[in-house]
Amino acid sequence: MENTYLTLIGTGNAESLRYWNTGALVRIDTQHVLIDCGFTIKYALRDIDISLQKIDAVFITHVHGDHVHGLERLGFESRYVYNRRPILYLEEDLYSPLWDKCLAGSMGNTSCGSSRIEDFFDVRIIENHTFTIGDCIFRTFPTPHTVGKPSYGVVLNERVMLTSDTNLITDLDQSFPNGIIFHDCCLQAENPVHATLSELIEGYSLALRKRMFLVHYGDEIDFYRALIRREFCGVATQGQVISL
Ligand SMILES: [Zn+2]
Ligand SMILES: [Zn+2]
Repeated sequence: MENTYLTLIGTGNAESLRYWNTGALVRIDTQHVLIDCGFTIKYALRDIDISLQKIDAVFITHVHGDHVHGLERLGFESRYVYNRRPILYLEEDLYSPLWDKCLAGSMGNTSCGSSRIEDFFDVRIIENHTFTIGDCIFRTFPTPHTVGKPSYGVVLNERVMLTSDTNLITDLDQSFPNGIIFHDCCLQAENPVHATLSELIEGYSLALRKRMFLVHYGDEIDFYRALIRREFCGVATQGQVISL
């Protein structure tokens, strides 16, 4: 769609000093929707000339700091500076881990007294793994990331998939037979919660890998660029824009 596009606002892992936290901004006409909101969110948005004031909605993939710790800033500034309440799209099993176990410690008591997540955000629980904003359909799906911790990837208009943090996803070529995939990639030799480069090469067919940009990488990415260009579609670039 002409006026609907995604900008990758960060491509780094949680440790990175060279790249912002992996996440995206989806523009649907005049609306601005974040996919994840990690602790580097203000710097990432500054780089594309967007302020937190412009954020209309957020979708959260899972509760790790590099994906949710920017929500405190977004919530406080929206409520106390901009007097607005962004929509927060959540899978139901993320609600309690996000508020009770994460945000409530800092946001649960304010100058207004006891506060709930609904005081900061217009919370929408996602039903049937789907929600729609304007002409953009968001389809979520569960991913194998950290055992016992719910986490999700998202597909936009069946054209672009962001896996967010994940190990290898079984039957990925069947569940998403066409389109571009931004896939989590860990450059270390072994990792229990992220797919490593060698696991991706061994676990996915070349045809599937050639639809894949690797993202959520570490600062040592330059060493692997030639190999990734050979084996995949490429390395995701911070600021990369994809039409939806
Ligand atoms: Zn992460
Ligand atoms: Zn994670």
